[in-house]
Amino acid sequence: MAEPLTPNCPLCSGPPAMVIGGALGTQAFCGNDGCTLLLWDRSLSLDDNLLNAGVVKLPQAEGGDGA
Ligand SMILES: [Zn+2]
Repeated sequence: MAEPLTPNCPLCSGPPAMVIGGALGTQAFCGNDGCTLLLWDRSLSLDDNLLNAGVVKLPQAEGGDGA
């Protein structure tokens, strides 16, 4: 068994309230009421989780609304 890359919430660093291990990976639910991130994949890296969460705005992404 590999160590989960992100055992705790990538946003608030809190422990998961619930973890679901399935064929697609290990999904964990944040139990922190004050946290905007509900679900993350413990098999992904911290950076990947933050990108997937879509709640973290990178400074360099601002002003690029030309699509
Ligand atoms: Zn959290």
